[in-house]
Amino acid sequence: MTQPSRVAIVTGAARGIGEATARKLAADGLAVAVVDLDEGACANTVTEIHDAGGTALAVGADVSDPGQVTAAVERVAAELGPPTVLVNNAGVLRDNLLFKMTDDDWETVMAVHLRGAFLFSRAVQKHMVDAGWGRIVSLSSTSALGNRGQANYAAAKAGIQGFTKTLAIELGRFGITANSVAPGFIVTDMTAATAARMGVDFADFEKAATGQIPVGRAGRPEDVANTVSFLVSEGAGFVSGQVIYVAGGPRA
Ligand code: NAP
Repeated sequence: MTQPSRVAIVTGAARGIGEATARKLAADGLAVAVVDLDEGACANTVTEIHDAGGTALAVGADVSDPGQVTAAVERVAAELGPPTVLVNNAGVLRDNLLFKMTDDDWETVMAVHLRGAFLFSRAVQKHMVDAGWGRIVSLSSTSALGNRGQANYAAAKAGIQGFTKTLAIELGRFGITANSVAPGFIVTDMTAATAARMGVDFADFEKAATGQIPVGRAGRPEDVANTVSFLVSEGAGFVSGQVIYVAGGPRA
């Protein structure tokens, strides 16, 4: 069955997993708001979607800023239509061992991952409730299970899981599902930055990671995008409050 036209918001969609997800949802037939810090940085994703025959809108917004989130959702509703699909994907790393982690390292990661997911979910839920249908997918991580140097990020990504389960309980009666996708090692600028911070060549970094992955390869942004595509589909309406690890195996 062809999916009816829906409007999706994907945050952090200028590159990486967000970009792949925006492109996949557009290919699925959804109109996609490509949200990132810098509207200009969204141009590439939007052009790729347009060139493939899809519908996309570039929107600049800091997901951690309440005013910018409200304005972004209002703009999407006005220009594309009421958003009933939300992918909370925007993310940052501020890795450090606990004794070296600064207040700002902690606050920044909490603000982007947790406050960002909260603000966007709260802003779009009205449109979903009005429609009697909605899909929220938030990016967690295998780091939620604990990861050296990531006390802030692990706490935020575990928090996303609790947040997701609560949205599923509160919003289910309105036809809205909430799920979380928890990637393992995915080749993006984020993992490249981690290798650089550790002073490790990225090819060596990827090879070491791959050795720990049961399917024997690193993940690609499209692996995550395909999982999100399922979770926001019409047919996934009885899947809610779940965390799906997209890690090439049962754990990191
Ligand atoms: P990425 O390549 O670093 O892309 C993240 C995007 O989010 C960037 O375009 C970034 O914009 C944007 N962003 C950052 N802060 C923002 C803010 N305050 N408001 C709006 N946009 C903001 O990361 P990725 O690897 O694709 O990761 C995407 C998501 O998956 C993140 O939530 C990440 O934690 C999660 N994840 C990734 C992996 C992995 O292996 N890559 C594994 C598990 C989970 P700028 O370029 O302007 O900073």
